[in-house]
Amino acid sequence: MATKKPFENFLINLRAASKTIGLSPEALKALETPEHIHKTEVEFKLDSGKMKKVPAYRVQHNSARGPYKGGIRFHHEADLDEVKALASLMSLKCAVVNIPMGGGKGGVTVNPKELSKTELEALSRGWMRGMSDVVGPQKDVPAPDVNTTPEIMSWMADEFGKITGDTSGAVITGKPIENGGSQGRGTATAQGGFYVFETLREKLGLPEVCRVVIQGFGNAGEHAADIWTKAGHKVIATSDSRGAIRNPDGLDIPALYEHKKATGSVAGFAGGETFDAHELLFQACDLLIPAALENQIQEGNANRIQAKVVLELANGPTTPEADDTLFARGIPVIPDILANAGGVTVSTFEWEQNLKDEHWSEEEVFEKLRVIMDREALEIFEKSKALSTDLRRAAFIIALERIQQAMLEK
Ligand code: NAD
Repeated sequence: MATKKPFENFLINLRAASKTIGLSPEALKALETPEHIHKTEVEFKLDSGKMKKVPAYRVQHNSARGPYKGGIRFHHEADLDEVKALASLMSLKCAVVNIPMGGGKGGVTVNPKELSKTELEALSRGWMRGMSDVVGPQKDVPAPDVNTTPEIMSWMADEFGKITGDTSGAVITGKPIENGGSQGRGTATAQGGFYVFETLREKLGLPEVCRVVIQGFGNAGEHAADIWTKAGHKVIATSDSRGAIRNPDGLDIPALYEHKKATGSVAGFAGGETFDAHELLFQACDLLIPAALENQIQEGNANRIQAKVVLELANGPTTPEADDTLFARGIPVIPDILANAGGVTVSTFEWEQNLKDEHWSEEEVFEKLRVIMDREALEIFEKSKALSTDLRRAAFIIALERIQQAMLEK
């Protein structure tokens, strides 16, 4: 595994794209440094009665286009560098899909799987108490990310309401529907990725029925498996942190989901062959969807990828070195800031509904989402062709042009 350096990876991509568009030195400098970094320690009570302290972060990268927006991650390896990288990517992602938001991200260095539900609630409420001064519907609107759920968002929204009196729910998105969540938010990331895939499939030379491999069978990955399968494609392999499963005829996704629910992992599923999760990325397929963690496709393994196209539902799964290798090998990578932007887009719809006290149907949400994802996917594709560059560089360029414009207007 490469050294973890997600923020440095962001800077490499930022500087490369900024040269192409001639970003002003002031704008580049502003984007190289987050506007605010909030660090705190959350202390919460364990069921044993003992107190536990964990480091917590909120990074607010750029607000030229609107309030900061971005998820909160609970992970034992979450650290400031990672949160900075993810916050920065959020600024670009919001600009790619042209929503009126800036970029932010939160993290807590904790293994939530070791916590009971009561402990998790105490931690979540503690995070909001620590950050309630810096978040808010017009300041910074968090959302779920790895290991954070609608229920956690609800606890946080409730805590914010108790502290500030603002009970609109617009401080945080990804809430359960009954607590102000939006229809479609649960599947929005995968759905948005699918719209992008549909728009670009033929242009990228993919067949009508694709063999799909998905790394990570969590929120983004399992919905992707379901959506691609229902559309007639075959998910031939998937994995989670404990193992991998494959079936060349296509996995039965609802049955696999039940198996995972019962056993905690996709490994051991009777409808396929269990294999080493480290080999998942190298399965021959049409479409590879990394939907787990960052830095998965890197210098040391990019030459082993046997997919025709990579679509990044995870954030930062491909390092800049691996990007170069894949570009040279003619394997297009549909970048995270486009491919997984459906999540933040529907999050923003939720924020808008809360502010206006409206409730949109799932059809309405997905129709609005489809229009945005189709339009931006096409624009990025055309830009990449016009500049003979890869899709990530093209997406960065479009986002930077929009952010620079907003900074100038400010
Ligand atoms: P999640 O916690 O629900 O799922 C992550 C999955 O990855 C789990 O199944 C886990 O077991 C698996 N995993 C972890 N390490 C692995 C490994 N080494 N090999 C294979 N699988 C592994 O998280 P999620 O919300 O699905 O997020 C996944 C990725 O998608 C993250 O990069 C996240 O930032 C990104 N993302 C998610 C959303 C969203 O709406 N959920 C939106 C945008 C981006």
